[in-house]
Amino acid sequence: MTAQPMPTTDADPTPVTVIGLGLMGQALAAAFVAGGHPTTIWNRTAAKAEQLVARGAVLAASTRDAVTASPLVIVCVTDDLAVRQLLDPLADAFAGRVLVNLTSGTSAHARAIGEWATRQGATYLDGVILAIPPAIGTADGVVLYSGPQTAFDAHRSTLRSLGADATYLGEDPGLSSLHDMAVLSLMWNVLNGFLHGAALLGAAQVDAAAFAPIANQIIGTMTDWLTSYADQIDAGRYPADDSTLDTHRAAMAHLAEESESLGIDDELPRFVMELADRAVAAGHGGDSYAAMIGQFRGSTHARL
Ligand code: NAP
Repeated sequence: MTAQPMPTTDADPTPVTVIGLGLMGQALAAAFVAGGHPTTIWNRTAAKAEQLVARGAVLAASTRDAVTASPLVIVCVTDDLAVRQLLDPLADAFAGRVLVNLTSGTSAHARAIGEWATRQGATYLDGVILAIPPAIGTADGVVLYSGPQTAFDAHRSTLRSLGADATYLGEDPGLSSLHDMAVLSLMWNVLNGFLHGAALLGAAQVDAAAFAPIANQIIGTMTDWLTSYADQIDAGRYPADDSTLDTHRAAMAHLAEESESLGIDDELPRFVMELADRAVAAGHGGDSYAAMIGQFRGSTHARL
């Protein structure tokens, strides 16, 4: 599917500042320009602003000029350390503005910057981008936000320039980063499973390209499982409507044995088997796979 640019909806577009013009920051700024927002930009390496200036963005002479140019200030740089190096000297420039930090980090980083911004008289929204730069400004540009709802509601239509329908998660500014972590865990576990499967099939000269459509079909099927397992996790009851953990555990042993006999790394299947063994030892052998949640909760919850 070809992504379509987001329609401009604002009759009186809010001015926006974008600080940080790496691959993602350039895409963010371009989307605001395309959305008709007066867009001020700043980057440590000024040359990265050239194409945006040609499209109508204004390059600020300093970070202070950039911040004071707009009521809505977006920051998207490498990491939390870079955010702090940029923002700390500008504390007094933020009063009355909304700071939206789209830099990746942990929920603790987000909450700490939120507290810093509040002390400066600013309002803080944290955001995470679940998209690559070419998707920004299109319907595929998914961005999740958390922080004060009044600020989100006030700027929702502007933030929609970045893509999709800007999604609001709640008042706690750490929520967006926490969702990012949850999505990363999902992504890497799915990818690792695909790579391990491709390695197994490769041992029999089956190309990864032949595995991909089968893998995609199974991933599609699994989305239904997630919905019903989510209900079980929230209810704390795990009826084995589909398959018991004991049945899964037996198949895990096959996967580990197959991997080992083919000379494929068996660390991943053996780790999963260990988790299942602990869940079975805790009395969940007759429950559904969702009962494994206790093994992931770690020390903050009882491993029930
Ligand atoms: P990038 O291309 O490497 O750009 C990094 C940006 O940070 C540049 O503008 C760089 O300035 C700036 N920067 C780094 N350290 C700095 C400092 N100490 N002071 C001032 N500026 C500093 O990275 P990116 O892809 O744009 O990613 C930016 C953020 O978006 C990251 O947190 C990333 O995790 C997140 N994100 C990216 C993607 C993606 O697909 N790219 C997707 C989701 C989220 P210079 O140009 O001067 O080096």
